[in-house]
Amino acid sequence: MGDMHRLQGVGVSPGIVVGPAHLVARCMPDAPHYCITPEHRHEEEERLINALEESRSQLLKIKQDLTKQNNNPELLYILDAHRLILEDNMLRDGTVAYVKNGFNAEWAVVRYLSEVIAIFQKMDDAYLREKRSDIEQVGKRLLNNLLGHSEDSVAGFPEPVILVAEEFTPSDTLQMKHETVLGFVAQRGGRTSHTAILAKSLDIPAVVGVDKATIKISQGDLLVVDGLSGFLHINPDPHTLDKLKDKQQRYSFFQKRLLESTIQPAITKDGRKILLKANIELYSDAFKAKRLGADGIGLYRTEHLYMNRSVLPDEEELVRTFKQVVTSMKGLPVTIRTMDIGGEKQAKLFFKEGEYAGVNPAMGMQGIRFCLREERSVFLSQLRALLRIGSEGDVRILLPMISGVSELEEVLQLLAEAKDGLTEDGLNFNPDVQVGLMVEVPAAALCAKELGAKVDFLSIGTNDLIQFTLAVDRQDESVAYLYESGHPAVLRLISMAVSGGVASGIPVSVCGEMAGDPRFAALFMGMGIDELSMTPGCLPLIRRITRAMDFTQQESMANAVLASHSTTQVMSLLEEMLRSSVGNEHIFH
Ligand code: PEP
Ligand code: MG
Repeated sequence: MGDMHRLQGVGVSPGIVVGPAHLVARCMPDAPHYCITPEHRHEEEERLINALEESRSQLLKIKQDLTKQNNNPELLYILDAHRLILEDNMLRDGTVAYVKNGFNAEWAVVRYLSEVIAIFQKMDDAYLREKRSDIEQVGKRLLNNLLGHSEDSVAGFPEPVILVAEEFTPSDTLQMKHETVLGFVAQRGGRTSHTAILAKSLDIPAVVGVDKATIKISQGDLLVVDGLSGFLHINPDPHTLDKLKDKQQRYSFFQKRLLESTIQPAITKDGRKILLKANIELYSDAFKAKRLGADGIGLYRTEHLYMNRSVLPDEEELVRTFKQVVTSMKGLPVTIRTMDIGGEKQAKLFFKEGEYAGVNPAMGMQGIRFCLREERSVFLSQLRALLRIGSEGDVRILLPMISGVSELEEVLQLLAEAKDGLTEDGLNFNPDVQVGLMVEVPAAALCAKELGAKVDFLSIGTNDLIQFTLAVDRQDESVAYLYESGHPAVLRLISMAVSGGVASGIPVSVCGEMAGDPRFAALFMGMGIDELSMTPGCLPLIRRITRAMDFTQQESMANAVLASHSTTQVMSLLEEMLRSSVGNEHIFH
């Protein structure tokens, strides 16, 4: 057994798993280089053609298996893109030409692909440059097949393993199978990275941002991944291992109990009904939300529809995808947020490399700004699709990153144009779809009354509200210690947003990560918020907490918390209050 270590990373998907490490290489295999004599060139050409065919069949098989298992169109697009590259005559002819000139098949692949990659790299088009990574992945598959290496994939292990790599892509995450992938550890990535969001939505415990993970961990090391605390234990001693296994058991038992308890409405002991909705990333998450008793979808992040894509989704595709969510929710409300692209949410369809970074990505061309200034027609097609789907269920439109009244007015003007266009085109739509905005920029909290007067609801996005209020980039690990959800300034802004909503007579909900934290969920209820939207996995616990508390008790706690001077004071008040009403159940959070 190797050295014992404990490393700290960022826990991005809860759950504790124990198992052997499996390191996944993310680089091209070494290709041999030799000359083929003329009499053997035909044979070599056949070997190359067979490898091309084998690679193509593998992709078809993966696609077939995935189609049976789940609904991840995002991954299917990637697989199709790879298959199309393999089927391209240029790849076949280009590599065969090298073999005809005496190159061995592996070297022919390396030479041809490096030429293609060099051409792509020079291109001014972001999408074409992005294709480079697809070409590299296809090349890797092809070389592995020529070399007879088994696929270094993230799926299909004989025994359950914990995967370790420098980085996992979102498509890797989508391919991980629960039976054989217990969890994963990555050197790179942050809490809000696309991969992290997916791991959480697929229930795969994960710790990312672990410095030098691929150097410190060896193949077969026993790992304990604690996706709750972000700790990673390598070859723990028997005593530590026992303690961790005990924590694992308590956590699983607690989760099981929560899931088994019949879904009862979230009503406080003194009869106040709280709507608990789900935040979803992929449309397939809607099934999970429904299964866990969500009262609707409070936030459907539509960025995924534009990520990992080579072509923009058209209006018809958007309508079809939205319809799947609306249908899965069986009449419950579905709040769909317009694309919040930019900043850390990169969609390479739109940005040239490095461009999305801007001067300060977190405060740059993102969300509604990006839609209005950079991609107005794409935004318009999304608005049209939303209005159309509005005639098929209780659909609400949510606008991200609004910072002032004129910006909101510009969106409302565009929405009116979308309605006119749909009328002209004779398409069915709901002209009265509810429109709300995210309160995630402090300015929006301060002007909540004025903004609220122009929309139907407000939804507080605490993830961004914290970063902008405290001037702490949520992606920057070096200032993560200052990212305090319980900071009095953040809570006061939330309280202002609630008052603004009340003054303009519209409902206010919370959809940031804070809503799924029992301590803050209880506080929000006490502040008068009666709708919370969270990662589906948090629903059972928050429902349990709601049923164990009194609104009057929450209200007086909220008053005390809002009068607090420091985060420490806030947190101790919240914890004390929660402990006295529901015991220690929330300790896993
Ligand atoms: C938020 O900012 O709180 C939010 C819900 O949006 P996102 O995490 O997608 O930025
Ligand atoms: Mg946000």
